[in-house]
Amino acid sequence: METPETNTPPAAPPSLTEWSLPGMGLLKGLAVTGANMVQSFYRKDRMTTIQYPEQRAPISPNFRNFPFLVYDGDDAMAGLRCTACSICEKECPPQCIYIVLDRDENGKSLKRPKVFDIDVSVCMNCGICAEVCPFDSIYMDGEYELATQDRFGDLVFNKQRLARSTDYHAKLRPVQAAAVAASRKAAEDKKLAAAAAKEAKAKAAAEAKAKADQEQPAP
Ligand code: SF4
Ligand code: SF4
Repeated sequence: METPETNTPPAAPPSLTEWSLPGMGLLKGLAVTGANMVQSFYRKDRMTTIQYPEQRAPISPNFRNFPFLVYDGDDAMAGLRCTACSICEKECPPQCIYIVLDRDENGKSLKRPKVFDIDVSVCMNCGICAEVCPFDSIYMDGEYELATQDRFGDLVFNKQRLARSTDYHAKLRPVQAAAVAASRKAAEDKKLAAAAAKEAKAKAAAEAKAKADQEQPAP
C-alpha cells in the first residue's frame, strides 16, 4: 500500500517584481516619473501640469467645499427656498450656522431667514446641512479660491453671499440639480392635483346642495 504524499512542494521563488532590494522603490518611482515625462510630449492624458491661475483643472463632480443657498427666479432674496426651519443649524457638527427667523409686525413667522450666516472658517465641509435640509435649499459649493486676510469680514458668509441661482446649481451639479428639479415639479403637480380635486369636490357638494334645495317642497 502506498503511503499518501505528505510533503508540501517547495515554495516557488519570488518573481522578479516581488524582489525587494534596497533602493528598488526609488528606481521604480523614477521609472514612473520618466515614463510620464517622455509620454507627456505626445500623450494628452499625461499632460498633468497646467498653468494655474490662467488655466484651471475641472473640479471633480463630487468635490465639495462650503454650502450655498439656492434661490428660484431672479430675485436672490425673495426667491430663497430656505424657510429658516433651523434644522441645518441644529445638525451642523461645529455649530457654524446662525439663523434668525424673519417675522412680521405681529410676530408671525414669514418662513424665511432674516439672518443666515455661515462661518466658513469653522465649517468642516461635511455636507450634513445639505443632507438634512427638507426644502432643497442648501447644497455644497465647489468654490475654493477664498484666501483672505480678513477673518470676520470675508469668512462669515451672510445670506447675500451664500445665495446662488438654480442655474448656478444646475451648472455645478447637473445630475443633482436635475433630480431636485424633477422631484420639486412632481411635488408641485401633486399639490395642484390635490387642490383641483378639493375644488371639484366642493363644487359638486355645492351643486348637490342647490339641487336638493330646489327639489325640497315649499312649506
Ligand atoms: S458643511 Fe457641515 S460644518 Fe459646514 S455648515 Fe454644513 S453642516 Fe456645518
Ligand atoms: S437651509 Fe434648509 S434646513 Fe437650513 S434653515 Fe433653511 S430650509 Fe431649514
